[in-house]
Amino acid sequence: KSWVQCGTSMKILSALKRHSYEKPTPIQAQAIPAIMSGRDLIGIAKTGSGKTIAFLLPMYRHIMDQRPLEEAEGPIAVIMTPTRELALQITKECKKFSKPLNLRVVCVYGGTGISEQIAELKRGAEIIVCTPGRMIDMLGANSVLDVASSLLLYWLFSDILHRFLVMRIMDNVRPDRQTVMFSATFPRAMEALARRILSKPIEVQV
Ligand code: AMP
Repeated sequence: KSWVQCGTSMKILSALKRHSYEKPTPIQAQAIPAIMSGRDLIGIAKTGSGKTIAFLLPMYRHIMDQRPLEEAEGPIAVIMTPTRELALQITKECKKFSKPLNLRVVCVYGGTGISEQIAELKRGAEIIVCTPGRMIDMLGANSVLDVASSLLLYWLFSDILHRFLVMRIMDNVRPDRQTVMFSATFPRAMEALARRILSKPIEVQV
């Protein structure tokens, strides 16, 4: 499959070329059209297989299909990930495409001051990349997701330690959202979480 066959827009195509992403990896070829169809999805693929782009590309498409954000409105897409390192890594990958698309990304994680992150969010951002603990603090502080039109929620993770935090956050995201989960493995305990937060997911494994 080519990028065009995956439904990729011209602006994204040129960014992909610029970063030498010549063609989709197997997980991207399968997951991108499935997510673009609007269905929930569970993607299982090893580290380094290109999972990040597999959910970023349909996410941009989803955001571009929405009306522009009003001032002080919450994010459209929420990307949750267990660690600060992953959050920063995803944010970096995300910015390669969000800049040419004129979308704003805020990265929210613990272990550093919360006020600057809140201020950044208040300035408005279509995409929030976060770790669950800090996201819970934000919910308490100023109901980030209450006003949000969050439809997509990406949860990229490798363990289940944050399961209960995730469920609490999910209760704050509108029920008609699209939810996509990516993981390197899919243990039984994760299935229980998937059943709680996903609706009739497509499964893709490479
Ligand atoms: P990930 O599995 O998302 O952590 O991606 C692993 C690495 O592969 C990252 O450095 C990406 O920049 C790179 N990558 C992702 N998709 C592609 C692609 N289609 N072609 C070449 N490199 C890619």
